[in-house]
Amino acid sequence: MAIERTFSILKPDATRRNLTGAVNAAIEEAGLRIVAQRRVRMTREQAETFYGVHRERPFFGELVESMIAAPVVVQVLEGENAIARYREVMGATNPANAADGTIRKRFALSVGENTVHGSDAPETAQVEIAQFFSGNDIVG
Ligand code: GDP
Repeated sequence: MAIERTFSILKPDATRRNLTGAVNAAIEEAGLRIVAQRRVRMTREQAETFYGVHRERPFFGELVESMIAAPVVVQVLEGENAIARYREVMGATNPANAADGTIRKRFALSVGENTVHGSDAPETAQVEIAQFFSGNDIVG
């Protein structure tokens, strides 16, 4: 299996409830390494660009508002098969459907406040990482 990098966000519901350490522990216990990390307040423009693929969806406005409501922690995770592995560790988008032991099952409040984001494919990982980090920021 290849060593990959994926982009992760600890969403506002995680920072608000002081859960960033607990989520990071779950990430590390799953064998993923946090090779870049920064706590930021996303601007509306950043959130709209980041979730641009969902612009036409009915929940887009709510999604953007929730992402800018409090700080987030943006991260790059590295490991074997990191993109799929992190999606597995995150659990289903709706925590009601998430498997036991996953981050969303353990911590998420609702589909809108579901604690984490993780890239869904190599192409999106690359674009998402580049939106928040440049080469020197990532130390593997
Ligand atoms: P993900 O890749 O598992 O995060 O899921 P998606 O890319 O499909 O959706 C992006 C984010 O939009 C999700 O993580 C949710 O926070 C949010 N979202 C998706 N579907 C809904 C919905 O029906 N209602 C609300 N309020 N938010 C949603």
